[in-house]
Amino acid sequence: MEAVLRMTKIAKRQESDKRYYMANREKIREKQKQYYEAHREQIAENQKRYYEANRDKAMQYREANRDKIAEGKKRYREANRERVREYNKQYYEANYETGREYRQAHRDQIAENWKRYLEAHPDYKKQYYKANREKLAEKNKQYREMHQEQIAEQKKRWVEANPDKKRASNHRRRARLKGCEGSYTTKELNDLFEQQEGYCFYCGALLYSSFDKEIHIDHKIPLCRGGENYIENIALTCSKCNLKKNKKTHEEFLDELQRCDRI
Ligand SMILES: [Zn+2]
Repeated sequence: MEAVLRMTKIAKRQESDKRYYMANREKIREKQKQYYEAHREQIAENQKRYYEANRDKAMQYREANRDKIAEGKKRYREANRERVREYNKQYYEANYETGREYRQAHRDQIAENWKRYLEAHPDYKKQYYKANREKLAEKNKQYREMHQEQIAEQKKRWVEANPDKKRASNHRRRARLKGCEGSYTTKELNDLFEQQEGYCFYCGALLYSSFDKEIHIDHKIPLCRGGENYIENIALTCSKCNLKKNKKTHEEFLDELQRCDRI
């Protein structure tokens, strides 16, 4: 009898707690949020300590709840898009030097790891691209937004220093030697760079970036296939596209790129 009474009491209490919570949900959430904002560092510190003390447990939990966690993260990102963007931006800027130093110091190791991984997962790149097309487009956009000044600076440097002057003159000389029709000026090449807004004609990668210091001058219709050496037949490309394109025409190569996208 007593036990039953106790149970009833507990149930009533739970019921009233629940009612209180439902009636004051917004207020409670707001309070929690305020508490969290005010104690952010302390909470992070506690979490970190807890995590370090329970590393194995945390790992097991993550393994067992992988999908749930991913889903939760996704929901959080969607609900806090601006915040996440701001956080990423700050993190990237705050850790840019460290990240770069780390990558430079471990360049070979990172490359080796990648190579091994790609060998074991030959379709990785294609699948990743396919699965993340929108995310990648968004990332590119974010990158461009975040690096507007840097990109503008790169373009300026390119125009001022004409780093490819020599390359351009070699290019023209080769064309002359082959007895091809046409020539172009460095000014035309600079205008073309402006026209392409600093991006690879084929894949849209940023030209003259920290990743790819070389800009390739491509004959859209290769000279060996009857292309001329006028500026209309020239495209500025990243080294990867230029090498991959080889003796294909620009139309054939763009077709091929699109087909790769669709697979
Ligand atoms: Zn490219």
